[in-house]
Amino acid sequence: MKGAIFIALNEMIESQYGVDVWEALLEEVNPDCGGVYTSVENYPDEDVVKFVLAISKKLDVESSVVTRLFGRFLFDELNNKYPIFSELNPEFYRYIDSIENVIHKEVRKLFDEPSLPKLDTERSEKGMTLVYSSPRKLCFLAEGLIYGAADYFNKKIEIDHYQCMHDGHDCCHLRIIEHD
Ligand code: ZN
Repeated sequence: MKGAIFIALNEMIESQYGVDVWEALLEEVNPDCGGVYTSVENYPDEDVVKFVLAISKKLDVESSVVTRLFGRFLFDELNNKYPIFSELNPEFYRYIDSIENVIHKEVRKLFDEPSLPKLDTERSEKGMTLVYSSPRKLCFLAEGLIYGAADYFNKKIEIDHYQCMHDGHDCCHLRIIEHD
């Protein structure tokens, strides 16, 4: 997992709960790097999960909720850093459609082994269905990122995550339902 993800997590926690909470989380997770992250460096995947579980315990909220919140925050961070992708596809569904074939393709050019999820999209009359698969099973992060994108493009949506890898399926199905 890229350091950029950990840096965003650090920023979210520090800005919303203060540096003391972040320090306490670092102490609990105790990552090998000692909490010093460089954006392009790779760090163990398990550490993201450990952070999410530590945050969930500390704030007394479910880990899926923490992951989703983080995804929302991460969208803004990434979109501020790399605005080119939302500029290229300035409409919500076009943007979501471009994740696999444009955004992930560019990320693969920039980094070795970025270990991205596989994402298939299918448009329907009222929205879109996404099929997500990744050995990391970070589908709630994907959910949060989609909600973040929807906010950015002023779309009111709801996601029905009706099939999930966490329930033993080999991929997740997420239905994006649009509200008027
Ligand atoms: Zn899932």
